[in-house]
Amino acid sequence: MSAQDAAAARLREFTGREPDAVWSAPGRANLIGEHTDYNEGFVLPFAIEHRTAAAVALRDDDVIRVTSTFAPDAVGVSLAELDETIARGDLDWAAYPLGVAWALRRAAPGAAARGVDIAIASDVPVGAGLSSSAAIEGAVASALNDEWDAGLSPVSLARVGRTAENDAVGAPTGIMDQMASMLGVADAATFLDCRTLETDSVDLGLRREGLSLLVIDTNVKHSHATGGYRERRASCEAGAAAMGVPSLRDLSVGDLPRAQELLDDVTFRRVRHIVTENQRVLDTVWTLRSAGPRAIGDLLVASHVSMRDDFEISGPELDLAVDTALAAGAIGARMTGGGFGGAAIALLDDGQVADAGAAVTAAFAASGFAAPTIFTVRPSEGARRDR
Ligand code: ADP
Ligand code: MG
Repeated sequence: MSAQDAAAARLREFTGREPDAVWSAPGRANLIGEHTDYNEGFVLPFAIEHRTAAAVALRDDDVIRVTSTFAPDAVGVSLAELDETIARGDLDWAAYPLGVAWALRRAAPGAAARGVDIAIASDVPVGAGLSSSAAIEGAVASALNDEWDAGLSPVSLARVGRTAENDAVGAPTGIMDQMASMLGVADAATFLDCRTLETDSVDLGLRREGLSLLVIDTNVKHSHATGGYRERRASCEAGAAAMGVPSLRDLSVGDLPRAQELLDDVTFRRVRHIVTENQRVLDTVWTLRSAGPRAIGDLLVASHVSMRDDFEISGPELDLAVDTALAAGAIGARMTGGGFGGAAIALLDDGQVADAGAAVTAAFAASGFAAPTIFTVRPSEGARRDR
């Protein structure tokens, strides 16, 4: 069953009513540009065909209720109490949809906000680095934007999603995921300048070239709200401050010798990852446009090496996934997403998908790792109203 059908069925079960409409937004994978988003740098993600759907029906009162096939409990709150409910911070998964409602009202104070029942279903794997969080935010933001006549643009809805995730959920993430989910285009990636929020669609040409993108989910769970992600952000901020720039975006590869003199070894390596990764994103866009997708393999591999050795956010499972995919003939491969688990992606010929997948599965078994989940992703369309 599609996520859209599952969401509509859940709404019927929950309310006995038909949805007014169903909206959906995709997860995303990041082709290249990792941890550059909150450093105001460049990223090149693409929306995937896995989507989260929100089936929605307006109510006659001011109560907003959310339910998901992902969680047993429905959560309800009156719009009048939304601020204090969000501030309490004890909403668990419901902080995503309710945080979106809260952030959308702040972004569009004139919106005709009213009570609403929201049922959510998804086929985006959760916690796999494919941004099920941006998908749920994008689906709910798109739905409420229409239902409440808020009139916000896709970019403004991406900001709403980010505000929900930062301030309601408490995960200090950048805006890449939401932009990719809102703005995706079939067989293209979204180049995003995270400082200006300027975007450009970059044709990937995978279909034309007979190429596939394989996702290897290590099934090692990560959490953005805690731990290493926060530490990396803090290192980047410290590095920028020590270098006297507002953000690491303002440094280029030519500044690295001075950074090495000024910074301690760990901070320097964190900075070097960001600075070189920004350059790799620009080089990837240029290479895609001038030479096509078969020419970007080395950039993908260099990105992985930088995350493994300088940013230190990979892990044995992710490294094995990348190394095995490359040994099986992939053009390029790298871990994708925030790191500390999650997924790797590999770019390879359509005809190599089955063998590469089998090789990775066998390598994981030989190393005593839990079995990975392996599937292909097609760069796909962004958030939309489905019906
Ligand atoms: P990722 O975005 O990489 O999948 P996150 O930790 O950022 O991982 O977001 C996952 C969280 O988002 C889940 O733990 C849950 O709270 C929420 N979430 C995602 N999808 C759904 C869904 N379909 N229903 C309810 N909550 C969801
Ligand atoms: Mg997320």
